[in-house]
Amino acid sequence: MINLYGVQLEKLKDLMVSYGQKPYRAIQLYTWLYEKKATSFDEMTDISKSFRDVLNADFILDIPKIAIKQVSSDGTIKLLLELEDGYKVETVLMRYNYGNAVCVSSQVGCNMGCSFCSSGVLGKQRNLRPEEMVGQVLVINNLLREENRGQRVSHIVVMGTGEPFDNYDNVIDFIRIVNAQKGLAIGARHITVSTCGIPDKIRKYASEGLQTNLAISLHAPNNKLRNALMKINKVYPLEVLMEAVKDYESVAGRRVTYEYLLLEGINDTKECAQELIELIKGTNGYVNLIPYNETNKNDYKRSSGNRVHAFLDMLMKGGVKATIRKEFGSDIDAACGQLRAKEKERNDE
Ligand code: SAH
Repeated sequence: MINLYGVQLEKLKDLMVSYGQKPYRAIQLYTWLYEKKATSFDEMTDISKSFRDVLNADFILDIPKIAIKQVSSDGTIKLLLELEDGYKVETVLMRYNYGNAVCVSSQVGCNMGCSFCSSGVLGKQRNLRPEEMVGQVLVINNLLREENRGQRVSHIVVMGTGEPFDNYDNVIDFIRIVNAQKGLAIGARHITVSTCGIPDKIRKYASEGLQTNLAISLHAPNNKLRNALMKINKVYPLEVLMEAVKDYESVAGRRVTYEYLLLEGINDTKECAQELIELIKGTNGYVNLIPYNETNKNDYKRSSGNRVHAFLDMLMKGGVKATIRKEFGSDIDAACGQLRAKEKERNDE
C-alpha cells in the first residue's frame, strides 16, 4: 500500500505511467487531494470507476490522528499525533501576523543528544516518512479550516523533534510535495530546515535547487563549549561546519540563520558574544537569539531579559544582524519534545 500523501508529483507521474495511465493522471490526483481536499478515491468522479478500484486496492490516503490537542492563550496549538504504528510526534501551529507557521517533526525522537534538548532524551525510534510530515501540515490545515476564517498554513519550519539531515531524502521529498504548485503551494522562501550541523548534507541541500531557507543550530561560539552542549560538534567541529556554511552560501546563493539559545551563565557572556561575532563575521548569516525553554530534564536556566538584550546589543554593535525569537505557547510545553516526553513519563508511571 502506498500512501499518496508521500509521493512527489514527478514520481507520481512515473507511477501512473507504470499503471498504464497518462502522466496527467498524477496532476488530477494532486488537484483532488490538495485543491479539492478529497479524503477518498470514491469522490474523484472524473476518474473512471475501474481505475478508482485500482487506486483503492493499491493506495491509501491516511493522515496521523490527534492524540492530544493543547491550545495556548496566544492561540498556539500543540498536537501530539499518533502514527500508524502507535508512535507519537509533536506538531505546533504558531500564528504570526504574517501567516500561520507549522513546526514539523522529522523523526520519532532524536539521536543527536544535545544536552539542553528534551527531544533527544528518549533517543531516535525511527525516521518519519514524507507522508507523515505532509500529514502534520494537513492536520493543522484541517483545524484551520474548521475555524472558518479562510486561513491555511503559509509557513513551515522543520524544527520539531528530530534531525532533518539525519532523514535527508524523506525531508527533501516532503519539501517538494508541500512546495509544489499543485501540492500545498507553500512558497520555498516560507520553508525553513533547521540542522544541528551535518556538513555533507548542508552541501547536498545547497545543490537541490530549492529556494528554501537553512537554519544552523549553533548555540556556542567555540569548540569547547559547543562540545559540551552538542555531541555532533565532536564529529564536525566549528571550523568544519563553518566551511560547509560558506559553501552553502556560495552554491545556494542564500544566507543562513544561526540559532543561538541563551543559557544563563553558560553561553550568554560578553566573551561569548565577542567570539560569536568573530566566528560568523565572514558569512552573511544573521543570528536568531532563542530564549531557552526550561525543562525538568536538566539544570540549564533561561537567561534573564536583561542578559538577552545585552547580548543582542553586543552583536549589533559588532556588525552582526540579530533578532530575538518571538515565543509561543509558553503555557503549554510547546518547546521541543516536551509534550511527548511528558506523555511518555505519564504512561510509564
Ligand atoms: N535537529 C534540528 C531541528 C530540531 S531542534 C536542529 O538541531 O536544529 C529546533 C531548535 O530548537 C534547535 O535550534 C534546538 O537547539 C532548539 N531547542 C531545543 N531545545 C530547546 C529548548 N528547551 N528551548 C529552546 N530551544 C530549544
